Amino acid sequence: ALLDGHRAVGQRGKSSLPHARERTLIAVKPDGVQRRLIGQIIQRFEQRGFKLVGMKMLQVSEDLLSQHYSELRAKPFYPSLLYYMTSGPVVVMVWEGHNVVQTSRTMVGTTNPTEAQPGTVRGDFSTHVSRNVVHASDSLEGAKREIQLWFQGQELLNWDCCDQKSISE
Ligand code: ADP
Repeated sequence: ALLDGHRAVGQRGKSSLPHARERTLIAVKPDGVQRRLIGQIIQRFEQRGFKLVGMKMLQVSEDLLSQHYSELRAKPFYPSLLYYMTSGPVVVMVWEGHNVVQTSRTMVGTTNPTEAQPGTVRGDFSTHVSRNVVHASDSLEGAKREIQLWFQGQELLNWDCCDQKSISE
């Protein structure tokens, strides 16, 4: 039932619409919150044309983090990563839109800020890989997994953005 509005548009012959409903998980990490960058980061995603469908501020548990970063458990920096990510609150968001996973990675910049292009979040706001301000899911499957991990279904809102048709078709 939640998809009815979109199906109605789809019936007009556009097949790319489900793609416009792609979702990704973005988090402002504790250093980003401490440095008062939440607003600037949200602004970048809004102005790019993505739709915010979920957002909350929380103190992350080690349990959630160990699931989120399960692939990194064997890395030497893993203990310090857990310490960093639990050092203060994070703001976690779900953004929706055409190719949002890949576009967000481009907007966020490379993992190591030394190589991050100016104009990206990391390229504008960070210098060190261990304090890189923001998280963005790195694949469609990763995004699905992370969204399920961080959010309950009812915390994500299906809502119509009045400018959606001007932004993607
Ligand atoms: P990304 O966050 O760009 O997807 P990874 O999944 O490889 O990158 O790593 C997750 C996070 O772990 C990074 O964002 C960063 O905070 C931290 N990290 C990665 N590599 C290092 C490193 N060599 N030293 C310290 N922290 C690191």
